Amino acid sequence: MEDLRVLEPLFKNTLFQFFLYMALVQLLAQVFLDRRVAFWISSFSTTVIWLRYFDPITPLKAWGLILLVFTFYLFPKAFFHFNLFLFLKGRKRCPECYSEVHWKAKKCPFCAHSFKGAEKAGEEE
Ligand SMILES: [Zn+2]
Repeated sequence: MEDLRVLEPLFKNTLFQFFLYMALVQLLAQVFLDRRVAFWISSFSTTVIWLRYFDPITPLKAWGLILLVFTFYLFPKAFFHFNLFLFLKGRKRCPECYSEVHWKAKKCPFCAHSFKGAEKAGEEE
């Protein structure tokens, strides 16, 4: 049990509590709803509860973090057709059938589309 004391400051951190609460609501909502809908419901309900019963600074910081992640993920995706999650998995997306294939693949194993050549990991059309 001694080792768990290292985690104590983390659990006392309100920002951590905010995301923990949000994750729990998200898990619950995901049972009944689509993942995206569940995300919006959990983030908004957590924000409302926090504003009502706790402090207004924590949700502000949390939304700053969420927006930061969104810009890192959505901006490169929209302008450079670069998908961060695909990149981390070492994959690219086939423009013909939208399957995820290994980034070194010359031919799509699903629809036999041949890639022009120098695609990089994370690329998608
Ligand atoms: Zn394909």
